[in-house]
Amino acid sequence: MGLAIQMAFVVAAALFIFGLKLLGSAATARRGNMLSAVGMLLAIVAALLDQGIVEYQWIVLGFVLGGAIGAVAARFVQMTSMPEMVALFNGFGGMASLLVGAAALATAGSTFTLVTIVLSILIGGLTFTGSLVAWGKLSETIGSGAVTFRGQQIVNSLIVAGIVVSAVMFCLQPESSQWLYLIIGLSLLFGVMAVIPIGGADMPVVISLLNSYSGLAACAAGFAINSNILIVAGALVGASGIILTQIMCKAMNRSLTNVLFSGFGSVSTVETTVEGEIKPISVEDAYYVLEAATNVAIIPGYGMAVAQAQHVVKELAELLEENGCEVNFGIHPVAGRMPGHMNVLLAEADVPYDQLLEMDDINPRMETVDVAIVIGANDVVNPAAREVESSPIYGMPVINVDKARTVFVLKRSMASGFAGIENPLFYKDNTRMLFGDAKESIAGLIREFS
Ligand code: NDP
Repeated sequence: MGLAIQMAFVVAAALFIFGLKLLGSAATARRGNMLSAVGMLLAIVAALLDQGIVEYQWIVLGFVLGGAIGAVAARFVQMTSMPEMVALFNGFGGMASLLVGAAALATAGSTFTLVTIVLSILIGGLTFTGSLVAWGKLSETIGSGAVTFRGQQIVNSLIVAGIVVSAVMFCLQPESSQWLYLIIGLSLLFGVMAVIPIGGADMPVVISLLNSYSGLAACAAGFAINSNILIVAGALVGASGIILTQIMCKAMNRSLTNVLFSGFGSVSTVETTVEGEIKPISVEDAYYVLEAATNVAIIPGYGMAVAQAQHVVKELAELLEENGCEVNFGIHPVAGRMPGHMNVLLAEADVPYDQLLEMDDINPRMETVDVAIVIGANDVVNPAAREVESSPIYGMPVINVDKARTVFVLKRSMASGFAGIENPLFYKDNTRMLFGDAKESIAGLIREFS
């Protein structure tokens, strides 16, 4: 029995790893998700048999309740609310590790186990409240702005010092429970304090980081209860979360420190002087240009998600193709407000994966593109990132739509994007602004075509 259980854990760990690998591409992601889920089921069943549990009724009750809530939430969540849901899941993962850590105290013997208990409670607790604040900011249940006040750093330093002191005291006197309660209370407080000074628009990066923390908390809990599979699963989540965080920061050309401590995105438009003039275009005139185009690149951004324009975008792409035009989509890694935001929306509208080109693949082709249609994207197509050294986004890799013969920018006004900066693209000779809600403008183009 013992060997069979250990083998089941090894198979489960392998399924997690293969599942993660498959999640790396949109075409295989579903299979990856399924494979990892099977691995998790196997791990749970093996763990339940391994523990020699005699009373299963609480476990079954928890499984049914939790499973039902998860299934209903996943079924009904809007695609645009996915980051909020991930935030909640991370938070509950953190809380689970906190509870496992606290429960492990009953059997704790060595100092090592006590240290892992402290870590699972500390990281689990701050992940729980940090994730709840992130959820509140994203869903605008609480204000999404950065909350800062005088002496914030001092307060945070005092909390950290309090955590260190109580952790040491707890390891020295594990029998006096007040230190444990203090660690729990301070770590919950620290989670709130760490996330409130970060602006709502940076929450996806924070969520990815908290996801990593929830993995580390699970890993520590795994050590506390001596569970190899929990250690492996926690380490995988911890590592993948931190890698994703790094990818996002790199794609924004910002450091993690800048994301966590600068209150970026809460500032209003930075004044810069841009030369040239705005040239609006009507739907009818845009149609004539598109009708004659043989190569079109569509660059979606956050505004496509706001307008929920993905279905009409797909319809327009089909009409262009029927008209003999080659159509590709250029996807910037941080277009929108969460990793893979555009991929998810376009997949929902059944746009074929092979039409989605990553930034590095579409940029070299841009000079052969007749019309680049920018749909609610702004920062990710801002040539200032290449041309204006003083720009806050200078150095951020962008999609070079300005190199196309003609650029149509679909947005409602001259408002700036997330970074709050002017976009010289709008003033370039080859750019035409198609003002209005993206969904309505595209629906207008579709009407012209048919
Ligand atoms: P931006 O936020 O730069 O711009 C979005 C544009 O969409 C706005 O200029 C807005 O203009 C327009 N828009 C909004 N609603 C509509 C609508 N209904 N119809 C038409 N247009 C609309 O988006 P990008 O995708 O270009 O860039 C994403 C930004 O978010 C980057 O700065 C990135 O660093 C940041 N970010 C991304 C994360 C991620 O994981 N993807 C995480 C954290 C930050 P107007 O109001 O005039 O219509």
